[in-house]
Amino acid sequence: MAPPREPQAAADPAPPLSFADGSPQDRGALREVPLRSAPRPSLLAARIESLRGAGPKLAAAAGQMGLDTVGDLLVHVPHSYRDRAAPRKLGELRIGEEATVEVEVRSARVRPTRRRGLVIVEASVADDSGPAKAVWFNQAWLVDRLTGGTRLLLFGKLDRSGFRVEAHEVLGAGAGEPSAGIHTTGIVPVHPASERLRAQRLREWAWQTRPLARHAIESLPAELRARRGLALVGDALIGAHFPEGLDEAEEARRRLAFEELFLHQAALAARRSARRAARPGIPLAPRGELVEPWLESLPFELTGDQRRALGEIDADLQADRPMQRLLMGEVGSGKTVLALSAMLRAVEAGYQAALMAPTETLAEQHAATLARLLADQSIPFTLLTSATPAARRREALGRLATGELAMVVGTHALIEPDVEFGRLAVCVVDEQHRFGVRQRAALDAKGPGGHAPHALHMTATPIPRTLSLTAYGDLDATVLRELPAGRKPVDTWVVGEEKRAGAYEFIRDRLHEGRQAYVVCPLVEGSESLEAKAATEEAVRLRATEFADFDVGLLHGQMAARSKQAAMERFASGDSDVLVATSVIEVGIDVANATVMLVEGAERYGLSQLHQLRGRVGRGEHRSQCILFGDAGSELATRRLEAIVTESDGFKLAEVDLALRGEGEILGTRQHGLPRFRVAVLPDDVTMLTEARREVVGLLDRYGSLDAPALGPLLDAARQRFGDEAIAP
Ligand code: ADP
Ligand code: MG
Repeated sequence: MAPPREPQAAADPAPPLSFADGSPQDRGALREVPLRSAPRPSLLAARIESLRGAGPKLAAAAGQMGLDTVGDLLVHVPHSYRDRAAPRKLGELRIGEEATVEVEVRSARVRPTRRRGLVIVEASVADDSGPAKAVWFNQAWLVDRLTGGTRLLLFGKLDRSGFRVEAHEVLGAGAGEPSAGIHTTGIVPVHPASERLRAQRLREWAWQTRPLARHAIESLPAELRARRGLALVGDALIGAHFPEGLDEAEEARRRLAFEELFLHQAALAARRSARRAARPGIPLAPRGELVEPWLESLPFELTGDQRRALGEIDADLQADRPMQRLLMGEVGSGKTVLALSAMLRAVEAGYQAALMAPTETLAEQHAATLARLLADQSIPFTLLTSATPAARRREALGRLATGELAMVVGTHALIEPDVEFGRLAVCVVDEQHRFGVRQRAALDAKGPGGHAPHALHMTATPIPRTLSLTAYGDLDATVLRELPAGRKPVDTWVVGEEKRAGAYEFIRDRLHEGRQAYVVCPLVEGSESLEAKAATEEAVRLRATEFADFDVGLLHGQMAARSKQAAMERFASGDSDVLVATSVIEVGIDVANATVMLVEGAERYGLSQLHQLRGRVGRGEHRSQCILFGDAGSELATRRLEAIVTESDGFKLAEVDLALRGEGEILGTRQHGLPRFRVAVLPDDVTMLTEARREVVGLLDRYGSLDAPALGPLLDAARQRFGDEAIAP
């Protein structure tokens, strides 16, 4: 930005009009004002193909990275920078020194080598300090471009055989537009790239797109921008792609990261208020003659956390706006009682309640728990999954539609269009992150005539506190940290192959004592069938060898529902001693007599996932153990496995995982339903996140709603960037 003009002393009497800086608007001054046409955001919709050097192939590669328009390219900012100081002289470089040099080519040739497949291009080059030999590997085609007289910028390192070129660019006429040293001098941006679309190409495209930056829409309110000293969006984009110095890059990054977090918080807030405005809830009367005695009758005392959660949920249920609460508590923290209590509140008030779980296994488990916890009550409920026989299903649907059936537990089968509820007032979604936004909305839509049911979303994946604002910013959250009394931490060891025989020996001893064991096979990301195959083979192997004297069951995600059910029942009843399983057992199995778990390939699991797996043991009166076989090949793997050994608090582990692996990796496991940020990095930018949230809350206070006309550009940008589908949950 140009510095403000000095007010000029006016010779004439003061003119009636002046510029914003107070300078007079006389003819001369007006003539000096730079002509600036208005921003035209539509220019940013131009396809990538409109760029020089962007053929169909590269455009397709860009498309794969989500880059379809030049506008996409503009917000595809570098993830890092290389500081390549201004060009040096060949003559002043020492062996081993890295530098950029500006040279002229004298001649070039391809030099054959003895090594197959290795081609060296050698050019004799010079600057005014003297000649040198420049060397490229495996780029034979280059030789045609390196004609005598060509001027080049080279970045690389001087070694004994010459100047090894890592990046080069051709300067001056004949090379198309001079690119001003963008690849080799100064601060060189490195954009996220792919195999098919390299960073160098992206840098060229970014350079071409640069002039369009000023057409980007400014979504931050001017007052906020001024108060926080944030740059204009156009300046920030240019500063991010091609900064003069690293300070400028960081300033640009901060502005863009703040905008991103701010827009996300705005989108969450907008969604929350839209949901509240759309449909009223169903206020339920305070706990009455059903829930109170039922809670009294439970065979255990509620933990302090459970009581606090119950209070929060009860308050929600009495309000006339629908509950939207996230109940977060690790495996075994006792979420089910709370879910059931909320469901019973609906039943008590003459309404219906539904509990949806992501897998049949889990739904069946819940049905069994409900049956047990409701043993003394005469409350009709049913299980509805895709395995429910047609006749039973038809009957259940009929009774749900009339409202006669008070409770239902099921899977996605619950949200099919022909499932109608007469009076649905409470719905619970277990392992909520496993459902998509649409699926949860579909259940929500089944409330009676214009009313939204109260919704309780449950998750056993503790989300680090630092991330909860982004992930669940539009829900009220309740956390259960305290485990029910009597739960003991699980002794955990990480062992190497040399301990394998001993590990099986240890497990056999436990089996002889009457306990049961899990053997969990390695995670194969993205391939259930490979996972299933490995588990099947392992079961066969263990039956023939280590556990030949025992009954070994098998459970994996590709088995038919009926076989899964049978395997679980055999293990739960103690008919099988060992259950060989894939990560499907992560949720939904509760066998108190199972006290040992052996996990293969532990390094492939996320810490939170390992912790959840481990939560399958230690559920009864006996001391439990978890043996992790893992290839602690890297420093990182070692530290993660150490963490799981020493730390038994799931929330702390989630924080450790986040700190060690970064947000990207945690996102990669798709456990949290977090948005992907382009610029912001969590947890590093968590302070900014908190401030972004505060700003959004401030706007809401000031304008009453984000729908205020003054906030139009903000809300549009928020929707566009984090549209409904993109926001979790
Ligand atoms: P999760 O949070 O994993 O869903 P559950 O609700 O399945 O946990 O509870 C795990 C086990 O602990 C169940 O058998 C449940 O009956 C029991 N439980 C729940 N709350 C308590 C408590 N306060 N004291 C003792 N046991 C409890
Ligand atoms: Mg549970």
